[in-house]
Amino acid sequence: MTTATQDYGLWIGGEYVEAAETRELIEPATGEAFARAAIAGSDDVDRAVASARATLDGEWGKTPPTERSRLLHALADAIQANRKELAELEVRNVGKALSSVKAEVAQAIENFRYFASAIASIAGRSNPLGGSLHFYSLKEPVGVAAQIVPWNYPLMMATWKLSPALAAGCTVVLKPDPATPLTALRLAELAAEVGFPEGVVNVVPADGPTTGAYLVGHPGVDKVAFTGSTKTGAEIMRLSAEPLKRVTLELGGKSPNVVFADANLDDAIPSAVWSIFYSAGQSCEARSRVLVDQSQYEDFVAQFSEKAKALRVGDPLDPETQMGSLISTAHRDRVHGYVDKGRGEGAEVVTGGEPADGKGAFYPPTVLAGVESGMTVAQEEIFGPVVTVIPFEDEKDAVRIANDSKYGLYATVWTGDPARGHRLARQIKAGTVGINMPYTAFPGIPFGGYKQSGFGRELGIEALELYLETKSVITSTGARPYNPFGL
Ligand code: NAD
Repeated sequence: MTTATQDYGLWIGGEYVEAAETRELIEPATGEAFARAAIAGSDDVDRAVASARATLDGEWGKTPPTERSRLLHALADAIQANRKELAELEVRNVGKALSSVKAEVAQAIENFRYFASAIASIAGRSNPLGGSLHFYSLKEPVGVAAQIVPWNYPLMMATWKLSPALAAGCTVVLKPDPATPLTALRLAELAAEVGFPEGVVNVVPADGPTTGAYLVGHPGVDKVAFTGSTKTGAEIMRLSAEPLKRVTLELGGKSPNVVFADANLDDAIPSAVWSIFYSAGQSCEARSRVLVDQSQYEDFVAQFSEKAKALRVGDPLDPETQMGSLISTAHRDRVHGYVDKGRGEGAEVVTGGEPADGKGAFYPPTVLAGVESGMTVAQEEIFGPVVTVIPFEDEKDAVRIANDSKYGLYATVWTGDPARGHRLARQIKAGTVGINMPYTAFPGIPFGGYKQSGFGRELGIEALELYLETKSVITSTGARPYNPFGL
């Protein structure tokens, strides 16, 4: 790996190009500079959108689904072949543990494979309407897609966005977070290597409120797909209104993990620990609110905290590490601010709660007990390794607290009673509910939010539909065409 000295350009029109600005990237786990990356301005966005538009209007726009399927499989193969390099790049750029990132790279591969297969089964339909009206529909790419992704899963989020868009035949201008552009750039390079025509994938790392906003409002963009915070999502929706664009938003969460007294705690506790602390809690669907039957509350908090405290936190490149650093010391300070706020509101810090010494952005797994649902720490997305544990009285109360959130991205239920699990699945307002199942995102299974967690779905066939327009074609099969005025 040579990333220690590498400079990265923007990726436009199938090649690296320079930008007016470059910026040093800091390795979050060491606090040291490790690469320089170009940062796009509005002129660069103009170039990227023009490249995407020209490619869409050229041969790419006529590519049959079978050819796109072949290219997507080839890209999956290329990611597989370069998985070690991609994983190391991601770990150094984001600070997360290699053990997590390896799973993300594996999913990145499967995303392309899933949509490579899915596009083969997307077709229009024909309806026997009777009489002399014959109808069929065509599925056509929506056009140029602006895709904006956050810093927490730069590679995986890029693949969530790119795989359905490319399967559908769109062209893309992808804007990663300016702090974490490296794996998206490498992905674009690999796409070119396996034969995607120039201009299909363009990558323009840039600041959000300036260049990102310019991209969203760009008249050459047909669709905006955004993953990030709910606050920015609202702004994206406003910016997408003139001229009008199709919009999908994958936003924040404050997801509950509901543990009933009839659950097997030997399964529920390690899984609940994992589902908040993997990726150091910097996950949209981190189960950051653990709701526990009050009869077991104290025992649960003691066992949960013991396991959280024992997690191996440290060098993210060490394969044994379970939790790496946060994205930056600035973000760590924000996370710590929430913990202090929780203390002020009366929560008890059972373990963690103080930043680690040293230059890396480390923060220990932190458990807040004695939390009530109305507290700030139980309502706002902390986006760090901090969990709130809240007692409930009975099933009705558990559902009430689970839904006592503006978000609705995800929920997990632990119970020994299958019927109860399915009852809760219907009553909790969230895009996905896991029953005795902590894992969250699978290629092929729709993922997305209720309420302020956004709209639109990723990963499933539903995501593909969001990159396709449906065109209805109608014709008369009668001996003579219709002549309603009898002229
Ligand atoms: P953010 O909203 O600050 O930024 C996300 C992206 O939007 C970045 O690329 C940023 O540069 C860009 N951006 C910011 N302002 C913009 C603007 N005005 N116009 C255009 N682009 C703009 O979010 P973040 O803090 O970087 O990411 C964390 C958030 O993302 C959390 O809320 C998390 O829950 C959410 N997230 C959601 C999902 C999901 O699938 N639902 C997945 C991962 C992360």
